[in-house]
Amino acid sequence: LAQLMSKRPTMNDVWPDKCGVYILDKESTATRFIDKKIKELDSMDSEEPFQVLNLDTLIQMHLKWLSYLPRVKPFYAVKCNSTETVLRTLNALGTGFDCASKGEISQVLSLGVKPENIIYAHTTKPQSHIKYACAQGVNLMTFDDEEELRKVSRCHPKAKLVLRIAVDDSSSFYRLSSKFGAGLSTTGRLLECAAELGLEVVGVSFHIGSICSQSLPFRQAIADARSVFDTAKLLGFQFSLLDIGGGFSGKDFPVTLQEFSEVINGALDEYFPFESGVQIIAEPGRYYVESTFTLAANVIAKRVIMEDMRKEGEVPERLMMYYLSDGVYGSLNFLLINGQVSPYLHRAVESSEKRYRSVIWGPTCDCIDKIVDNYLVPELHVGDWLLIDNVGAYGISISTEFNGFERSSIYSVVTNETWHTLNHSSQ
Ligand code: PLP
Repeated sequence: LAQLMSKRPTMNDVWPDKCGVYILDKESTATRFIDKKIKELDSMDSEEPFQVLNLDTLIQMHLKWLSYLPRVKPFYAVKCNSTETVLRTLNALGTGFDCASKGEISQVLSLGVKPENIIYAHTTKPQSHIKYACAQGVNLMTFDDEEELRKVSRCHPKAKLVLRIAVDDSSSFYRLSSKFGAGLSTTGRLLECAAELGLEVVGVSFHIGSICSQSLPFRQAIADARSVFDTAKLLGFQFSLLDIGGGFSGKDFPVTLQEFSEVINGALDEYFPFESGVQIIAEPGRYYVESTFTLAANVIAKRVIMEDMRKEGEVPERLMMYYLSDGVYGSLNFLLINGQVSPYLHRAVESSEKRYRSVIWGPTCDCIDKIVDNYLVPELHVGDWLLIDNVGAYGISISTEFNGFERSSIYSVVTNETWHTLNHSSQ
């Protein structure tokens, strides 16, 4: 980190006035911070759910990215989690930003991000948002259709356009190419249209789909991008940018970053060798934040259901139902679509403690607000706290206040050593 920061412009204020970032004392850890926070909330009789953002983990993720994908500059996908300390930290580390709207562009600009470090990576943009990008000097933006080209020529004729292509996303949970991306057979016509409108197209982008469970599709997508570069050359364009999108897991599952990097680096060497001078960027979202946030939620209610399915003489089985202060309409909304979580008790658990079949629910009146079914845990009591790791991707951004339950608070923590390295390394 010290080496990286020594190459960056002086950063005295990564988090001005610390931005609410808690600097951990020498012996302290994020886990101890959680213990302290829980004690504090207990003393106030508060059940308020909270998340802890571990900035050391976020930085580790970036260093890992640099070591595995040294040719690929990450433009963090703001939509995934726009917590200010995440954005400020990544800006200090030198990533770019992928913004999807005027709101996201305005947020990152207000934190001091330079317009040239932003890609407006949305192919179907409102005209007013394109005009805003133009006024702010944000020039790089994606398109996949003639109608979008006409809008850009009206609202931002000096834009530097990136042609997003549809790719094979059948290995991904979120198949983004069903909604965005030009088919390969249409790219020639689109480029001719751009030329007729006098627009500058500088490269190609794709998104392999979010939660990608195979690394190989990247190879074909990079080969497809190469064929569009070749078509563009024949039509007189000078392409200089390849954007390989997002799709990388933040917890090395189902595919590790190393596995992705082996396929990507191999394909880049073959289709876009270093000597080609093509700049390679990506739009990782989930990768950076998924494992950097932990949720703490309080057991606000409990019911014990006696399931009377017993045969004669048997004791009825107990089904425990617990209700937490956060759920799928809050920080855990990603559970509504995909994924599972493994809550664990904050208090120490003896291995001899009996475990009961339990259902863990969120706090709202809705029956789909369920966190885990058929879960074996020791008996919990009202007031206990459960912790859930890996909640950083698309939780906070989509959370609601349904039923009047407030969103969880976020506390950012960093070790003393990292804080000093980040804030003073280049002085
Ligand atoms: N770029 C674009 C255009 C996206 O739509 C998304 C996610 O929807 C991302 C990047 C981030 O994807 P991920 O979180 O899978 O890395």
